[in-house]
Amino acid sequence: MLKQIKKPGLIIIQVLAFCFLLSAPVEAAVEGFIAKDDQGNLFQYSYEELLDSYALKVLGQSNGLYENYAEKEVYALVNSNNQYIDYKDVLDYYAAAIASGERFNLEEYLTGGKAKKAKISGDIKTVALSDEKIVTSGSGATTISNPGFDLDDLLKGFKPPASQSPIVGPAGALKEQAQEWAEDNDAAEELIEIIPIYWEYAEKTGMRPEILFAQAAVETNLGHYSDDVPGDRHNYAGILKGDAEDDDPENHESFADPEEGVRAHYNHMAAYTGLSPIGETHDRYNVAATQSWSGSVIYVEDLSGRWSPSEDYHLYILAVADNIIQTEVEILEEEIPDDPEEPDEDTRKKVEDLSDQEHVAVDVADITVLNLRSGPGTDHDILDRLVRGTVLKVTGHDGEWLEVITPDDKEGWVHGDYVRAVDLTDNPFKGNLVVLDPGHGGIDSGAIGITGLMEKEVNLAVAEYLKDMLDDAGARVEMTRSGDHSVSSSNRVYKANDKKADVFVSIHANSFSNPESNGIETYYCSNSDDSEASKFLAQQLQRELISALELRDRGVKANSFTVLRDTEMPSALVEIGFLSNKEEEELLRKEETREKAAEALFKGLEAYLRNYRQ
Ligand SMILES: [Zn+2]
Repeated sequence: MLKQIKKPGLIIIQVLAFCFLLSAPVEAAVEGFIAKDDQGNLFQYSYEELLDSYALKVLGQSNGLYENYAEKEVYALVNSNNQYIDYKDVLDYYAAAIASGERFNLEEYLTGGKAKKAKISGDIKTVALSDEKIVTSGSGATTISNPGFDLDDLLKGFKPPASQSPIVGPAGALKEQAQEWAEDNDAAEELIEIIPIYWEYAEKTGMRPEILFAQAAVETNLGHYSDDVPGDRHNYAGILKGDAEDDDPENHESFADPEEGVRAHYNHMAAYTGLSPIGETHDRYNVAATQSWSGSVIYVEDLSGRWSPSEDYHLYILAVADNIIQTEVEILEEEIPDDPEEPDEDTRKKVEDLSDQEHVAVDVADITVLNLRSGPGTDHDILDRLVRGTVLKVTGHDGEWLEVITPDDKEGWVHGDYVRAVDLTDNPFKGNLVVLDPGHGGIDSGAIGITGLMEKEVNLAVAEYLKDMLDDAGARVEMTRSGDHSVSSSNRVYKANDKKADVFVSIHANSFSNPESNGIETYYCSNSDDSEASKFLAQQLQRELISALELRDRGVKANSFTVLRDTEMPSALVEIGFLSNKEEEELLRKEETREKAAEALFKGLEAYLRNYRQ
């Protein structure tokens, strides 16, 4: 069914300004899909398989195959000349054609030069399979134009500002506005996911996030890159390699992950504007920072013409930034309102009762975090912001306020309205069902190490050690696989949901084309009902893994992998080291390391179960 392509170098990417306008005509026959899994391995699939599965998925009759593809990052159709066609266009169009009862011919679609994107609306009612074809009674197909920017449209109705627009300055928009805008404009998922990182680096550097993010949106064509050349280099600003003499696609930088890509973008603009870079700099920064003009490019208007082939480059950026600023969003209030004017007798009574408790849990419904303050009142400093579910040890009380200790040993005060009593048993595992999900298996080996160690084997070994430890501790444990066989993502999800697991942990090892990449990272899904609990869980697992294995801390990251997005309980996915890195592969080959990793996950789970109450 799938064949691994040996040479990742096959994939090329264009992130030149405006290259996306030039899409190559497709002439040769289509051979299949190129897809990348979460480990960076490349696979080739037959397109019929994916198209059928996708159509079924859209029609609510998924056979599970598309789930697999969705987790892997299917990102291009490839023809025999290794040219790429945006797969999403084709998939959507295909599903729409089927939904409206039309015959769909992929060859015709491609060679006919159609570049339509079709959306499925909600009125598709029934579906039946006859003669291996999908027939449906509803009709919900509508077509819309190309994804990405229509640059002329972008400038329509945009009035450039009268004065020049500085690159350095306070944020003019919230990240929520950028997210809303990006979603409204059908931006690629990766572009939406990096928005919080853009806003984070704005705080660190002092540059305007809506300007840099707008530049990224323009440079990458809303994350869709060119029509026929997709991007996987996390290069959001068309940054060239240090020694590049022209801007051919292969002369563009590749960054290890989205965060590195955003950091490089900010550093690059630091060379232009004269600010200090953050962390290690990329090669092209070092070139730019030594130029005579370095530090003098401080307005968005300066960017046109000289560094970009278009005189209107700055206008596109300013138009996008302006659109973001104009986007209306509803923001949840982040902090607790000030003290009620009147002393609240109900709260005092509640606090009195709670002070007999050993523990309470943060209970915030309409606000996102609870302030931990240095004293009993809102005039005291904020020491920390606690998420819903955090368990606090009670040490005292005063009026409407409780004195507490947090799981990471911070002492402070919280308002009594926003906590509730919890009963902690001595054994946090007791009564809890943990579903362990060793990634991959069977024909799907996962990442393959530099000397051949298979990820599926590492994942299973760690999961088995962990299962034994959890069993001994009194937890109930289920595994999504216990031998070397393949299980689809949807089946993994199904098992956890069906058994009503309390917590779900997916175990993986990493891989990347650059053998230097190393370290540990943990993922959670930021757009699920359990996102706060999942993040808390991910933080505990990551912390314990780093302290046990002493590898590079790549951090806790948000991602909507199927097994995280569709599981109906707090869930996290750990990537324990890189098999593509020689030292880490050697480590993961050792039983001792696998056992250590399992111990770390055990401790992380214990911290989660002890210190978090939904
Ligand atoms: Zn994996």
